[in-house]
Amino acid sequence: MTLNIILLGPPGAGKGTQAERLVSEHQMVQLSTGDMLRAAVKAGTPTGLQAKAVMDAGGLVSDEIVSGLIGERLDELGDSVSVIFDGYPRTEAQAISLDEILAARGRKLDHVIELKVDEDALVDRITGRFSCATCGSGYHDRYKLPQVENVCDQCGGTEFKRRPDDNEETVRNRMAEYRAKTAPILPIYEARGIVKAVDGMAAIDEVSSGIEAIIA
Ligand code: AMP
Repeated sequence: MTLNIILLGPPGAGKGTQAERLVSEHQMVQLSTGDMLRAAVKAGTPTGLQAKAVMDAGGLVSDEIVSGLIGERLDELGDSVSVIFDGYPRTEAQAISLDEILAARGRKLDHVIELKVDEDALVDRITGRFSCATCGSGYHDRYKLPQVENVCDQCGGTEFKRRPDDNEETVRNRMAEYRAKTAPILPIYEARGIVKAVDGMAAIDEVSSGIEAIIA
């Protein structure tokens, strides 16, 4: 049986970090619309060209585009893979689309895991983060440096990168978008009794344990 999980929380709540762990511990697949959009921007596809300015400003890309990406990716994966939705859905329209996308593929949502965080701490988290340019492993200037300076713990890569939208002004816009458009989808899932909250301000391992207990 497949698991279908949403990680929900504002930018910098730790969705990507926790998704990375679930991928390595449980052979789940992370479906991050942000990663998909960044890949499209890098490849210069029509979707990428359309999305770039919105992403740079911290706004939201259209519901049609992101839901289209999710549907395509699920089709590529087939029926037997468990998935984590990271950064999707972000609006009520996307939440409705996700229900349709899952139902059409014989899937259903098992858990919506809400990472609860203190917004003031998020700017600090986000503006310090960087990742391995080769394998994508996440690091942080203050909280998670590679064990050997400038060498990726996972793959040994020596090139690192930062997201262009991880600057303070854009982060504030991304948070405002979260409050206005994404937080309001929680009640939809609360009404179904599938929301479980985890303290996203706890240490990374503790957050992981909280998530493990939910999906066990
Ligand atoms: P993320 O990596 O999830 O922080 O996403 C980075 C940026 O990509 C966001 O600030 C949005 O501009 C865009 N984006 C990612 N996922 C979505 C989504 N589900 N709906 C709309 N825009 C998105």
